[in-house]
Amino acid sequence: MNCAVITGAASGIGRACALRLAATGAAVALLDIHGAGGTRQEIEDRGGEATEYAVDVTDDDAVREVVAALPAAPTVLVNAAGIIVRKKLLECSVEEWRRVVDVNLTGYFILLRHVIPAMSGAGGGSIVQIASIAGHTGYGFSSYTAAKGGVLALTRQLAAELAGHGIRINSVSPGVVTSGLNRDTLGNPAIRSATVDNIPLGRLGEPDDIARVVAFLAGPEAAFVTGADLVADGGMISTIHWGE
Ligand code: NAD
Repeated sequence: MNCAVITGAASGIGRACALRLAATGAAVALLDIHGAGGTRQEIEDRGGEATEYAVDVTDDDAVREVVAALPAAPTVLVNAAGIIVRKKLLECSVEEWRRVVDVNLTGYFILLRHVIPAMSGAGGGSIVQIASIAGHTGYGFSSYTAAKGGVLALTRQLAAELAGHGIRINSVSPGVVTSGLNRDTLGNPAIRSATVDNIPLGRLGEPDDIARVVAFLAGPEAAFVTGADLVADGGMISTIHWGE
């Protein structure tokens, strides 16, 4: 049985990944800080198999226990749990900085350090890390940008390290996607329309736009792809606006 572990599975991109991977027949393990009952119910209503775990991805002991309790050895891991603090460097407290780096980067490390041995023991698998266009560009919020840049570097670093375990690892860098993370910001009509104006494809991303890319990287169609980042942003960072 294929078992896919997804963090941040209660909402947005993680939830969409869980629905899509469950539809391919994987038993999905849903991790989120307050559990992921809604996602589990949706999957079960569609005839899929899901277990949920209320776990903070920064809690090493708790993640170890969850991985030990999985119904089957994991063959897919999607690291998606994330938070943002919308502050410039000089506005950001040390506590805020630490929490953003803790969840968005150290939390990925904690999942990797417990899942990789189990995945390797099961003969290998595929890992997809949700990074961001913020890791590629000056996005404005330093703690988030730094953490996402770390995810990109870590993913590249691990490609060679994990190949001998039969594990591929890639990242996806979403652009602006409608989700819990930016519900408030995109709720402002002026910000929303200025953002869309900067996206050549003329719309915001939907969580399933990202989940489809994740499913590709996680699955056999991407058998020769590792250490890569796939930008899914509607063309946003490929474009320079000259104020016309
Ligand atoms: P979201 O807020 O809808 O979902 C994030 C989920 O992570 C939530 O369910 C939340 O409860 C969970 N979470 C937060 N902290 C956690 C912790 N410590 N332990 C366990 N779970 C925790 O946001 P989203 O947009 O779906 O975010 C998913 C990923 O996509 C994040 O890594 C985010 O940085 C990334 N991303 C989002 C966008 C975007 O525009 N929405 C763009 C680029 C990258």
